[in-house]
Amino acid sequence: MIIATGTASGKSLSYLVPALSAVLDGGTILYLSPTKALAADQLRSLGELDVPELRAATFDGDTSFEERAWIRRHANYVLTNPDMLHRTLLPRHTQWSAFWRRLRMIVVDECHGYRGVFGSHVAQILRRLRRICARYGSRPTFLLSSATASEPGTFAMRLTGLQMAEVTTDASPRGATTFALWEPPLTDLRGEGGAPLRRPATSESADLLSDLVSADVRTLAFVRSRRAAESVALTTRARLQDLVVDVGAPAELPGKVAAYRAGYLAEDRRKLEKALRSGDLLGLATTNALELGVDVSGLDAVLIAGWPGTRASLWQQAGRAGRDGQDALAVLIARDDPLDTYLVHHPEALFGRPVEAIVLDPDNPYVLGPHLCAAASEIPLTPDDLEIFGPATKEVLSGLVEDGLLRERATGWFWTSRERATDLADIRGAGGAPIQVVEMSTGRLLGTVDEPSAHMSVHTGAVYVHQGETFLVAELDLEAGVALLEAGTPEYTTFARDVTDISVIESLRSHPLGPGELHFGSVEVTSQVVSYLKRRAQSGELLGDEPLDLPPRTLRTRAVWWTLPASAITPLAEDGLDLGGAAHAAEHASIGLLPLFATCDRWDIGGVSTELHPDTGLLTVFVYDGHEGGAGFAERGYSRALDWLTATREAIASCECERGCPSCIQSPKCGNGNEPLDKAGALRLLAVLLSIDPCEV
Ligand SMILES: [Zn+2]
Ligand SMILES: [Zn+2]
Repeated sequence: MIIATGTASGKSLSYLVPALSAVLDGGTILYLSPTKALAADQLRSLGELDVPELRAATFDGDTSFEERAWIRRHANYVLTNPDMLHRTLLPRHTQWSAFWRRLRMIVVDECHGYRGVFGSHVAQILRRLRRICARYGSRPTFLLSSATASEPGTFAMRLTGLQMAEVTTDASPRGATTFALWEPPLTDLRGEGGAPLRRPATSESADLLSDLVSADVRTLAFVRSRRAAESVALTTRARLQDLVVDVGAPAELPGKVAAYRAGYLAEDRRKLEKALRSGDLLGLATTNALELGVDVSGLDAVLIAGWPGTRASLWQQAGRAGRDGQDALAVLIARDDPLDTYLVHHPEALFGRPVEAIVLDPDNPYVLGPHLCAAASEIPLTPDDLEIFGPATKEVLSGLVEDGLLRERATGWFWTSRERATDLADIRGAGGAPIQVVEMSTGRLLGTVDEPSAHMSVHTGAVYVHQGETFLVAELDLEAGVALLEAGTPEYTTFARDVTDISVIESLRSHPLGPGELHFGSVEVTSQVVSYLKRRAQSGELLGDEPLDLPPRTLRTRAVWWTLPASAITPLAEDGLDLGGAAHAAEHASIGLLPLFATCDRWDIGGVSTELHPDTGLLTVFVYDGHEGGAGFAERGYSRALDWLTATREAIASCECERGCPSCIQSPKCGNGNEPLDKAGALRLLAVLLSIDPCEV
């Protein structure tokens, strides 16, 4: 069963009640959360229940050897994460036999986080888990909890491979929320190609936060990084101090604003939460660390600096406002980016619309292969097991046998290597050996990044934000597989830029679109990160473009692409339109808008546009999945193409800049320095493709 309802609607209670009665009945419970912090919070709530029969424990990377032994033997409520399940619990299933035998329920909390490639890995881990349970004779119930999502039952079925009932009615009491969409004004500052820049969302947030706090409104402001949280809190305090001096506001007012972030100790967080509930604190600037279940609710207003990526997260953040069923205020403040621009001009894209479906593709062979190896090393695979892993299994298995990874015998498939099969799957990345991200001064491992993303996110000189904390990359050493970082507070942010070539391997599906054609298929992408841009954090002003020396890499993935025949574009060229610039501008904006339809990040996808592509012989614009084998995003773009490209055109049309800016057609990751771009041309080109009268905006 999946429960998909809003923030503070009592989801935890709905799985705790059956879980505890199973425990009292002698059963065991496995609880999975996407983060350690959430598991720790759950453990604390379980402790407060004071049930003597309950022996709950978290089992994660920090659990000591002695504790592990105790947990295996005695715990009846184990809180862990998919990574531990993949690396430890499943491969060592024999040590956990008593636990599996009595397993009655598997709680998958905050499961909307399991999307894209990561979600596809988790889906296969859950299939391995089901197989292990079956081996020990248990048939646990899956109970999934999620933020509101569209078609949660379908998602839950893809995630677990089982038929799922869905609960979506939210009957918790709630007042009315007034929702404001806020677009910061253009400033005199100039960016790339002399484009005008908007006032940053964080500066606007600080203004609004001080207005609200001085009016005694309890407000939470969501920002992207820990540093931004601190700077918003500081700026707000300074504004309030001015009010104290200028108009005699109460002297304690500036002290009622603070920053809150992941990484604080539990006691500090509790203290802030309490101060906010009691009204000792009126304003809190925070990263989205709060988004995952931590208990801060009952506020009067919420400010959201920048589109949080999905309608689901937007409602989750906005849902923090509304004390005891009272009315509340939520404000979305647009950042300088095409999607944010589109949204603040198109409230109908946000309100009265279902939230996103969560996209994942468990059949991706690059994901399935490693998990079949892991499963075979847990218990050899037999023909009876194939069904559980999905329709692509047979073909992927023969590939694994051909590559010598698995051995096929009369009874099934075997893992005979001495290596650990689980090392083949990098579940938080996209294949290839992951790059270790290490803090230089302390040797602390901050995390891992898969190799393709490393070129973009932890190249030498990059500003890297980890759980809201800001670092500078001193060196990316690809051979050693490590990126060395130092904590820092640079005055700028960085954006890697790449140049890309694409070739069509095969068009899998296609249909006519206006005078042109739309395709979905397999492609090979060769891309090279060539430089990075530095932009001033406070204003977005361009500070420089630094060259980088990184090798090109190739990626086999899925793409959606559209073409227009010469007959459709010749009249445009005759009108003096720059076709290359028009296609390029349309590509950038469409990459910016795809996350609205495919629940991805704009960094998960890439694009190529050309006036004449050698494989199609036509003007072509490609948008591809940035992960080996694809992650379902391009496919989603193909199936929603008309809505997606219409929204793209509207985003460009609704930006009031003259020749293009970061809010419409410029892209921070463009390897060509945002050249050439033709804003008016993109509007005409898309109008032709979508068969829209070009005079209509
Ligand atoms: Zn613009
Ligand atoms: Zn570009």
